[in-house]
Formats: sequence, C-alpha cells, structure tokens
Amino acid sequence: MWSVTEHLDSILGQLSPLEPIELQLLDAQGCVLVEDVTVPVALPPFENSSMDGYAVRVADTKAATLEHPAVLEVIGDVAAGSDVLPTVGPGQAARIMTGAPLPPGAEAVVPVEWTDGGTGGGPATTMAAHSVDSAGAGGEVRVHQAAKERQFVRARGSDVAAGELALAAGTVLGAPQIGLLAAIGRGSVTVRPRPRVVVVSTGSELVQPGEELGPGQIHDSNSFALTAAARDAGAIAYRVGAVIDEVETLRATIEDQMIRADIIVTTGGVSVGAYDVVKEALSSLGGAMGDAEDGPGGSPGRVEFRRLAMQPGKPQGFGRIGPERIPLLALPGNPVSAYVSFELFVRPAVRTLMGAGSVHRDVVRAACVTPVEKSPEGRRQFLRGRYDQASGTVTAVGGAGSHLVAALAHANALIVVPEAVTSLEAGSEVDVVVLD
Ligand code: AMP
Ligand code: MG
Repeated sequence: MWSVTEHLDSILGQLSPLEPIELQLLDAQGCVLVEDVTVPVALPPFENSSMDGYAVRVADTKAATLEHPAVLEVIGDVAAGSDVLPTVGPGQAARIMTGAPLPPGAEAVVPVEWTDGGTGGGPATTMAAHSVDSAGAGGEVRVHQAAKERQFVRARGSDVAAGELALAAGTVLGAPQIGLLAAIGRGSVTVRPRPRVVVVSTGSELVQPGEELGPGQIHDSNSFALTAAARDAGAIAYRVGAVIDEVETLRATIEDQMIRADIIVTTGGVSVGAYDVVKEALSSLGGAMGDAEDGPGGSPGRVEFRRLAMQPGKPQGFGRIGPERIPLLALPGNPVSAYVSFELFVRPAVRTLMGAGSVHRDVVRAACVTPVEKSPEGRRQFLRGRYDQASGTVTAVGGAGSHLVAALAHANALIVVPEAVTSLEAGSEVDVVVLD
C-alpha cells in the first residue's frame, strides 16, 4: 500500500510547470505571469481633472466666498478626450469634465458644486460633455469657494510612474491585475498557460444527463464534476463523454485525446472487477502510447496501479503516456472517491503545471462536532463536512459511503481522520481541507 503523501509526491515529482507563452490579456486570466512588467508611460499620462467643474487660476478664486463669489468668464469646454485646449487667462475659467486634460493656464479645478453651475453658453447644469473646445463658451460662472493649487487635479504619473514595476513575475493575474495591464497599454503578456485537462469517464452503465435511463443505467456524473473541478483549479477542461467498458475503445479514445491534453484523467475501471478495463487498457501500453523503455530519465512510460491507504479512493493509477509523456491519473469510479481523488491528486498536479505558488488547498484545524464511531485503521479517511469558519467547527455530512453524491453537494470541506485514528469523540480537533 502507498500512503496518500507518497502517491502525491510521486505524481508531483514527475511534473514541471508548462513552458510560458504569450497570451492576450483575457486569455491570461488566472495564469501566473512569468515576466516583470514595467510601466512604459506614466499613469495617468497627463494632468487631468478628478471632478466635473471649472478649471481656474488659483489667484482668481482666492477670496471667493458664498457672499462674495468670484465671477469668471467661461471660455470653453474641456471634455475627456479633448485634444485642442483653450488657454485659461486671468479672470477666466474653462468648464472641465472628469478625466479631461487640465488646460494651459489653469492651476486647479473647482467642482461644479462650488459654483452656480454657470450661466449662458452651453447647458448650465447638465454638464453634458462637449468635445469641441469652444462649446460652452460665453457666459459666466460664480465660484463661491477658493481652490487650492492643484486641487482636484490628478498629477501625471500619480498612479504609477514610467519605468516603475507594474507587476512582478509570479503574480497571478486576477481582474485588477488585468485592468492594470490594460491601463498601461499591454495587449498581451507572457504567462504559464492553463493546463488542458481531458476528463474521460468509463462505464457501460453510464448515460449522459438529459437522456432517459434504461434498466441498470445511471447518469454519468463524474465527467461533469471533474470537468468543473478542473476548471475550478484553473485548467482548460475538456469533457469526453463516457466510454464503454471495452479495452480497445478506451485505448483508442485516450490515444485520440492525447493531442489536446496536458493531463488526462479517467474515472472508473480501476478496481478488481471483471470489467475494470482502465487497468487492462493502461497497464499494457505500447506503440503510440509509449512504453517503459523510452521514458526520459527512466521515468515510467506506463500507468502504474496502486492501492492507497486512504478512504475513499483506494485504487489509483498514475503514469505518463505517449511520446509526449502526458501525465494520466486513473481515478476510481465511485463519485465521491473520484472527486476526493481529484482534490487530493489532480488539483495539485494542475496547479503545478500552472506554476502556481500554492498548489494545495488550505488545511485548517477545527473542532469536529460529529463523533466518528469507526474509521478504518491504517487508512487516512476523508469525510465530507461543512466547515464553519466563524465558530471554527466542522460537521460531517452524509456517511462514509463513496456513492453519496447528495451529501457531497452539501459539503464544503473534507474532514481528515488520520491513519492511526479509529474513532473520534465529538468536539475532537481535526484537520479540515477547505474546498471553497
Ligand atoms: P467502477 O470503479 O468503474 O467499478 O465504478 C464504481 C462505481 O461508481 C459503480 O457503481 C459505477 O456505476 C459508479 N460510477 C463509475 N463511473 C461513474 C460516473 N462517471 N458517474 C457516476 N457513477 C459512476
Ligand atoms: Mg466501471
């Protein structure tokens, strides 16, 4: 028997991060940046207004109060995107919109709320944007509060200066990071790509959801759950419909899928039953699937089947197949076993290929509210639970049965009962793998 840790280590020990590629910004979401990105041009690139209001000279509004407002001549409009700017002279103001460049001569912006909104010229109160600089000219504005030097003016480079480091290599690109890259004008970046995970379920009893069940048939849930889990881990996931329990069909399907896979995951067919074809198809590989001799550095070219000291998920297969040495993880068929195995072994594999800093789920300590009467000796048990962060407790949901998909759907954590522990009193401290 292999321990959970030994099996995981043997998988991760054979994987290294995928080669970086250049991706368009939105395709790089969730990926790890492999270049230091510096700022080519200061942000903001020019002085601009942070308010809708009037661009003024400081001296002109210095004495302005509600009782004695400064009356300024409005010489034009400056909208965001304006390229021709009026020059603001003494006693003058230009109506200005948020994000519009500060016109020459002006030293500050008075917000429209500090004025009477202007009279004459353009629309007095609506502040509709004009792109023609002479629009809104004529008329006056009464300013009743003094503007300080540079008030409501965003300085050039006040966000980031040119030449500064925008994002360091190793950063995971979330929405704000993608926003920053776009803001500094980067259309594409060099990242480690998302691994492509192909999910193949096996079983002649399996029917696609949405289709009627015949006698003895069940709906294929594994390929859906694991495709979703692969996406959740950051992969590009391809779901392959269930394959019948027939060695040649399975072998052909896997050979076909190798072209688009960085990892192949199968479910079912790894126990000791008469129709457990995954084992048969994958432990006797050759030809296009590769064999033991041509693996680099003597790495195995076939899938090795192991019995793990864990529950659920005892039977597991792992190997690297084909000329490209694509990692293949053969998971057990019971839905809970398949999902738990994915979380424990496939997810870290996906995260390793992505070059992610953290490849594991968070593990926290919590008090297990539910007593565990019997846990198998010598096997690490993963019970499904609901973890409550506020109280630091976890409650088991459903039993130990590895067919209990409904209970799994209500769980948000795995409760770990160590190999040496055979029962737990209510309130015992346990390790909890947090799933969300
Ligand atoms: P196996 O490991 O193939 O013997 O499957 C073990 C159990 O899991 C059997 O009850 C199967 O019917 C069930 N099972 C296998 N694959 C799936 C699947 N893709 N979706 C739902 N149940 C499955
Ligand atoms: Mg089966």
